[in-house]
Parts: sequence; structure tokens; C-alpha cells
Amino acid sequence: MIETSEKLFEQAQKSIPGGVNSPARAFNSVGGSPVFFEKAEGSILTDVDGNEYIDYVGSWGPMILGHSYEPVIEAVQETAAKSTSFGAPTEIEIKVAELVKKMVPNVDKIRMVNSGTEACMSAIRVARGYTGRDKVIKFEGNYHGHADSFLINAGSGALTLGQPSSPGVTKGTAKDTLTANFNDLHSVKKILNENEGEVAALVVEPVAGNMGCIPPKKGFLDGLRELCDAHDVVLIFDEVMTGFRIAQGGAQQRYGVDADLVTYGKIIGAGLPVGAFGGRQEIMDVVSPVGPVYQAGTLSGNPLAMAAGYALLSELHTNPHHYDELEEKTTYLFAGLKDVFQNHDVPVSINRVGSMISVFFTEEEVVDFETANTTDQELFKKYFHAMLENGVYLPPSPFEALFLANSLTEELLDKTIEAADKSIQKALAEV
Ligand SMILES: *Cc1c(COP(=O)(O)O)cnc(C)c1O
Repeated sequence: MIETSEKLFEQAQKSIPGGVNSPARAFNSVGGSPVFFEKAEGSILTDVDGNEYIDYVGSWGPMILGHSYEPVIEAVQETAAKSTSFGAPTEIEIKVAELVKKMVPNVDKIRMVNSGTEACMSAIRVARGYTGRDKVIKFEGNYHGHADSFLINAGSGALTLGQPSSPGVTKGTAKDTLTANFNDLHSVKKILNENEGEVAALVVEPVAGNMGCIPPKKGFLDGLRELCDAHDVVLIFDEVMTGFRIAQGGAQQRYGVDADLVTYGKIIGAGLPVGAFGGRQEIMDVVSPVGPVYQAGTLSGNPLAMAAGYALLSELHTNPHHYDELEEKTTYLFAGLKDVFQNHDVPVSINRVGSMISVFFTEEEVVDFETANTTDQELFKKYFHAMLENGVYLPPSPFEALFLANSLTEELLDKTIEAADKSIQKALAEV
């Protein structure tokens, strides 16, 4: 029963647009009423009706070591007692910056902001200021937050013509965003050649996570690096999702490719609102107050957020075994789910990178936006709700990755696989 959740959702819709403060929470892709949560510990969520779920959302990434992680809670409580904000420098900001530099060696300088959106928005402003050029290239199906420049779809049939994908984004902004196909170097080359000398930056999710998890094909990221070098374009890795998740040094470390700028969010704040952008000294030196590119924030580098982020990052840095364990757990889940779907003759394409994993209900290998869209969305909806009934909280969309936490035990993984077996049977009977 989710009676209280349903009541709260009804009430919420009267004072909050759609009842939620971020649309992905509204269950629009799966239907039904979103679950309202009360508390969580490790990998177990408890909703307002007292139901428990095994969590595969992890607040969309930050909870890589589970909810209510002691060192984070303690750091926040201790810091809060001394003031929640000064709007002036604090030592903890230096500690976080220095720690990130240790974990990501090609970051020379880093600036804290309050969300992944702000990080990506600021990074392209910096790239534009640095190069003196206006255009940016992004990939279809990649998400970089909700800043105007990123809410752009490719015009049909004409990949290079940007169209606003949301009212409120001006045509003027849209014309400076060019869209290429993920995992398709040829589409990038074409755009660069057609816009020679005009492109400031290329921004990419090095492992796509916002159209489900899609790994870069072999050579794709290297190819982007080479193309950016050849055309003097700033290469930006949006590691808001992958940063500190798929390795200490994120996708840069895992694939051995260095970007010029990197953006962070999610894990870096351990569940508090933090984003960051950083990179090569020469580029970061255009940021105010050193350089002319303006960027600011009243609450940026907030002590509570920094203390939380520092506690989590320190643990990940000091004990890299977390990454090996996450890798093992995700591989275990991958194998278990694969068996389940095979046993029921459900065609699936399961993608996994580190502790990110996505199940697409399709026969096609999922490598980009187009192939991701072949997933059977109706089957997913039924499966999602059956999983929820069986005590597993999945991301409420067929186009999101599951984020594993190291608080998942073998017992919980087995329970999840059992739940998947029951749920897919129920889903198949319903569609
Ligand atoms: C979540 C996300 C963002 C946006 O971050 P917010 O903190 O939600 O603004 C940007 N890029 C990627 C890759 C993300 O996954």
C-alpha cells in the first residue's frame, strides 16, 4: 500500500508544479504515483507508508557507499553547529580542491558550484571565453543539465541544425548548439568541417548515462580528443554521473583519455547540492576573479556541502577497494539478470560500465540514442511497477541507468534477481 504517498502527491500538486521539484521524480515515464520517502540506511529505503525497498537510484548517484553513511552524517552535523554558511572563504574548500586534484591528476584548478547544471553551463562559458568562439557540439541523448544551451534537439534529418527542445529557449541560443550522434566520430568530423573556426567546445558524457547506460565504443573518446586537438576545440567531459563512480579519476582514468575541462556533480556533494568544473590551468585562468569570464555563487563551496563531499571522497580515495567491490557486485547482478531474462525468452541488451547498468528490452545492441529508443517501453512500465511491488526501487524511466552502492550485500543482490524473475513474469502476462 502506498496510500500516504498517493495522498501527499495529490497535495503536492496543488502547490508544486506537477507535485515535484524535478520532473524525473514524477513517474511520468512509468505512470502511477511517485513514492514519497521518509528515510534510508545503506541500500534500504523506507517510504512514508513504512514500505521498504532495495535502492538502485542512490539519489541518482551520490549514495555510492549507501545512505546515512556515518562519516558524511557526522561531518554535516559537526559543521552545521559552527554555521551553515559564511559567504567567505573556509579551509574545507581548499581540502576538497586538493583532494579532487589527487584523484584526478589532470585537474589543475577547480571551481565549486551548486549543481551539475551550473557546472556544465559555466564550463561552456569558460570554453567560449577562452577560444573566443560561440558554437558548442553536444550529442543526441546526452544530458548536461537544464541550461538553455543544452536543451537542444537535432533538427530532423539535419543533425547540424539546432532546434530548441523546450519553450523558453531562444532560436538564437539554439543556433549555437550543434548535435552529433553518440559513438559516431564521422558525425563529429562533419560538423567540425562545416563550422571550421567557430566551435568553442565539444561536450560529452564519456559514458552516456542519461539515455540509459551506453559505453563509448573503442576509440570513440580517443577520436574526440584527436578531433578537438586538430580543430582547437576545448574537450569537455561531463563527468557529473561518471566522476568518482566508474573509477576515482572517472572516465578519464578508466579510458585513459584526458579532457581539457571536466564537470562534476552528484557524488562530489555526497547528497548535498554541489557541482564543480575544473581542468587545465591555462583554461581555468580565464575564470573570474583571475580572468574576465564571470562566474559566481552566494552559496558556492558551502561548508556543509564541502564537509559532506570531503568525507565521501576521502573514503573513496583512501580505500579504492570500494571500486573493485562495486565492479564485482555489478557483474554479479548483470549475470543474474541476464539469466532471468533469457529464461523467460525476453530479448534484452544489458549495458554495464563499473557500477552503472541498464537493461534495454530490445534485440538490438544499444550504442546510441536511436538504438536506445528501440527498447520496449510498455514492457518496462509493467516491469518497473512489478519490481516496486516486489520491493525494488528502480529509476522510474526506461532511459536511466541503475546506480549500485557498495552497501548492497550479496543477499540484497539475490533478492533483486529473484524480484526480477517474478516481475518479468508478471509484466509479460500483462502486456
Ligand atoms: C545529473 C546530470 C547533470 C545535471 O546535474 P544537476 O545537479 O541535476 O543539475 C548534468 N550532466 C550529467 C551527465 C548528469 O547526469
